[in-house]
Amino acid sequence: MIYNFSAGPAVLPMSVLNKAQQAVVDWEGTGTSIMSISHRSPEFITMAEQMKANLRDLMAIPDDYEIFFLHGGASWQSAMIPANFVGEGQVANYVQTGYWSQKSIKESELLYPTHVIASGVEAALNTNWPMDDNAAYCHFTPNETIDGVEFYDFPKTDVPLIADMSSTILSRPFDISQLDMVYAGAQKNIGPSGMTIAIVKHAFLEKSSHRDLPSMMHYHTHRDAKDAMANTPPTFAWYVASEVFKWLKAEGGVREMAKRNQAKSQMLYDAIDGSDFYANTIPEQCRSWMNVPFQLADPSQDERFIAEAKAAGLINIKGHRSVGGMRVSLYNAMPIEGVEALVGFMSDFEF
Ligand SMILES: *Cc1c(COP(=O)(O)O)cnc(C)c1O
Repeated sequence: MIYNFSAGPAVLPMSVLNKAQQAVVDWEGTGTSIMSISHRSPEFITMAEQMKANLRDLMAIPDDYEIFFLHGGASWQSAMIPANFVGEGQVANYVQTGYWSQKSIKESELLYPTHVIASGVEAALNTNWPMDDNAAYCHFTPNETIDGVEFYDFPKTDVPLIADMSSTILSRPFDISQLDMVYAGAQKNIGPSGMTIAIVKHAFLEKSSHRDLPSMMHYHTHRDAKDAMANTPPTFAWYVASEVFKWLKAEGGVREMAKRNQAKSQMLYDAIDGSDFYANTIPEQCRSWMNVPFQLADPSQDERFIAEAKAAGLINIKGHRSVGGMRVSLYNAMPIEGVEALVGFMSDFEF
């Protein structure tokens, strides 16, 4: 048995993969591969509508939010957001809690005045951020995939809030009506890379300025497109995501995922905290359920740890190159048995 703890592209449910294997050859009796069917065919459009309805249901997204399935990953949203939403005389506000929020800040800085209003773990622990009066929006990252910092305490404010939820979307319930926009690359908790989800409140969408933008960069282009497809979408990625949403519903939805994710991460944090050999230095209140970084007391053992874990079927646990150490990702499709195996291995390695 192999357990894949990759941070992304990440593990997918085995039942979805098995079904996709068949769909690659003959999708549900159409006689054609899911990759070779027209995105304008009735079958594909029905699938896409079902996918959107299931996501709306899973995340309890109210009717006054548009759901977009776009290209280009979360990184492309980092550029589209300032391009669309920073108006004349306005400034973009950002909260910097780690690697990915910093990347979004850099993109915004290329285009418009950008103000980092809070940073570090303190910003995750206290979300009473000092926003500018002329802020077009406040952007933050509720789960830092590399740093392992997660928070769901959203500020109460009139400034529109935008959350990069790439590595935490669908992992637990939250009240989306507190936010004006949520976006996520698919390859962490949803499906193949290449697909990006953006969920935007209609009233906020109206604020997208009408300055000249390349049409594919304008949210209105995607909103107004026939069948919500401004061009050919990554059809295979859409198909897999649609199957993951069905799987999520059958498994009990986001509430059930939250229970499992909390239990999985707690088991791992307990193992880390209960040992002098492993350490995670993130304050308990903002430790991530999805991505758990940890260090070995003796970093010279890192390579042997990774190699022996791999031999035991526990793969992709090496930390991001920017931080080193280990990082274990526990997305929805990671079963608790994977965490049990990892914790057992960690104990064997230590003693
Ligand atoms: C992975 C990730 C990104 C980058 O996603 P791409 O799809 O590669 O652009 C951005 N933000 C967060 C929080 C991520 O986890």
